[in-house]
Amino acid sequence: MPPLANRSAGKPCYNSSFPLGRAVCKLMSIVDAGLADAATIAKYEPVIGLEVHVQLKTNTKIFSASSHEFGNAPNTQTDPVVLGLPGALPVLNRKAVALAVRASLALDCRVNRYSQFARKNYFYPDLPKGYQISQYDKPLAERGLLDIDVNGTRKRIGITRLHMEEDAGKTVHDGFSDSQRYSYVDLNRAGAPLCEIVSEPDIRSSEEAVAYLNELKLIVQFSGASDCDMEKGQLRCDANVSIRPRGQKEFGTRCEIKNVNSFRYVKQAIEYEIARQAALLEAGGTVIQETRLFNTATGATAGMRGKEEAHDYRYFPEPDLPPLIVSDAWQQEIRGAMPELPPAKRRRFVAEYGLSEYDARVLTLTKAAADYFEAAAQASSRPKTAANWVQGELMGALNAAGKKIEDSPIAAEELAALIKLIHDGSLSGKLAKEVFAKMFAGGKSAAEIVAAEGLQQISDTGELEAIIADLLAKSPQQVAQYRGGKTGVIGFFVGGVMRATRGQANPKLVNELLKKALDG
Ligand code: ADP
Ligand code: MG
Repeated sequence: MPPLANRSAGKPCYNSSFPLGRAVCKLMSIVDAGLADAATIAKYEPVIGLEVHVQLKTNTKIFSASSHEFGNAPNTQTDPVVLGLPGALPVLNRKAVALAVRASLALDCRVNRYSQFARKNYFYPDLPKGYQISQYDKPLAERGLLDIDVNGTRKRIGITRLHMEEDAGKTVHDGFSDSQRYSYVDLNRAGAPLCEIVSEPDIRSSEEAVAYLNELKLIVQFSGASDCDMEKGQLRCDANVSIRPRGQKEFGTRCEIKNVNSFRYVKQAIEYEIARQAALLEAGGTVIQETRLFNTATGATAGMRGKEEAHDYRYFPEPDLPPLIVSDAWQQEIRGAMPELPPAKRRRFVAEYGLSEYDARVLTLTKAAADYFEAAAQASSRPKTAANWVQGELMGALNAAGKKIEDSPIAAEELAALIKLIHDGSLSGKLAKEVFAKMFAGGKSAAEIVAAEGLQQISDTGELEAIIADLLAKSPQQVAQYRGGKTGVIGFFVGGVMRATRGQANPKLVNELLKKALDG
């Protein structure tokens, strides 16, 4: 028999003198053609849709009273419902619904008054019941949108749907002495409340995908629906990737890359997948619709299983739960209590405080940063200076100390007091940085430090004039040079005054007074 499939790139995978082999081979297609180079990749347009699972910020599980706190001893947060014991019935957590509605509204989705839970049947040890309670044809919310910004270009990404479901448990494959033979199951997470947010296939690059994820995370965090702490698995992402020749209308076949647990890995996984599919198409192969896993060690994706179709899950309406009704009144109540969300906050920071789009973006990366900036801006009445100090010195010092802005040793009002000292001329910018460092280290106020160390900027005309007169008297040669037309030597005098005042002289005033003394 001639070989039916040749796994190496570009080579014909059949024996042309053997027509049956050619036909069979065409069916089997090329399965591995390596990775395409940049020129080949450029011929294709990526099409990406993301499925994001977000854990809702409740105390208890979606259908039972167990907690789902992260990091507890395995299997300490279970109950008959989670374990799927006979006779145990699910009861929907009202708070979980309220939070899912909040996330839906924050993402501009239309919330359905009537939605329904459905059984998604599959067999895996992390799911004791043998089915996951999810939503299928009647999801909680649909038709949302989210605006992203990639290098200054705005783009709108559609959100197909947001539905509620329960999380599965965790299968632990390593870390035990007998891990070679056994896998362990931890059900603490099973039944934790999730919402799944499915995007339209509107995303066209790995950069857009990351921008979408960042913005989605921020909006959901600000809405209060979830903390989206990725280290605790509170936000997880599956990426659907296909490519098509540029100019072609129809989408290509997609692969779904499962559970990529950091945004950096999402980017890597998508880029790998684009290069893999491009090489495959270029070599005359076809992309097989499948579920793939990303390997963090190699940066590669590998086929895991053929992509299941909806009918594989034997979905049917969950008989143990009534339809979910979200009344208009409840929806209005939740909408009315919605905190200000990042897009609106950014627009307001630009309009109200005159910040650049960039500054507004950086200062709304967390709610704590936004609140801190606003408090400092208001207390100092100097929003732009406040924006610079918060983004520059403060965030720098916090990063270096491994602290969050919530735990800043300098309160916003104290930073505002320092900013006021700069603006009223009491403190030079250079000394202000020294004072800031001392405030950060010691918790004393700016005024206390300035007073204790005698750091006030010298803006006293008489005092400075005396120092200048003295300096001029001691430097007849330089005075002569200046008066002879070499006005550049003024730097020499400025330096002299600064040395004499330990850097505390008001530089603007020193310049003025020096010119007066030298020219007059
Ligand atoms: P499934 O359960 O099969 O994963 P979903 O509806 O939950 O289906 O998710 C499908 C995801 O795949 C959506 O994000 C959608 O935008 C995306 N998608 C659909 N078709 C394509 C395609 N041809 N290329 C890339 N992404 C696609
Ligand atoms: Mg899916």
